[in-house]
Amino acid sequence: MRKLYEKVETIEGPAGWIDCLGCGSRSAPAHVRQRLRTPYYFGISLGTDNEVLVVCDVCKSEHLTRAKSFQAFMEYRPDDWNAQITKLNSPSFPKILIALVLLVWWCPLLGLLIYLQLRSYRQYIRGKWRMLYGLMMWPTVVANFCWIAFGVYDAMHGQ
Ligand SMILES: [Zn+2]
Repeated sequence: MRKLYEKVETIEGPAGWIDCLGCGSRSAPAHVRQRLRTPYYFGISLGTDNEVLVVCDVCKSEHLTRAKSFQAFMEYRPDDWNAQITKLNSPSFPKILIALVLLVWWCPLLGLLIYLQLRSYRQYIRGKWRMLYGLMMWPTVVANFCWIAFGVYDAMHGQ
């Protein structure tokens, strides 16, 4: 059994429209998403964290809302959603991973493994972080290719 385990439940809710903060679309089709995170430590629940988000259907950006619960959010009319969204859901974890790749891209495997880990956070990487994420692929891949080539060469010619 893992010490820390998180159960994540996502419920997609009804549709409405918003002026998207991610892609800038005016009156973009959107829908409500409720995400319930329940972390467990040694099988003991640490309580449930409830997030009510509005997702732009054009660019899939998640927007944070002021709503405390899904039920509370459903009281708002769809043409009132703009007033309820606060900002883009922009977790810092992928930024930390990108910064790590910048530091260790030249290491055998390490940079590549962190880079691959970032794939599951793609939707949260935007702007200059997105550019960095795209740019770091080549040096990371080339460095690992060089390590493999070096390893093969060493195996063939080494003592
Ligand atoms: Zn959008």
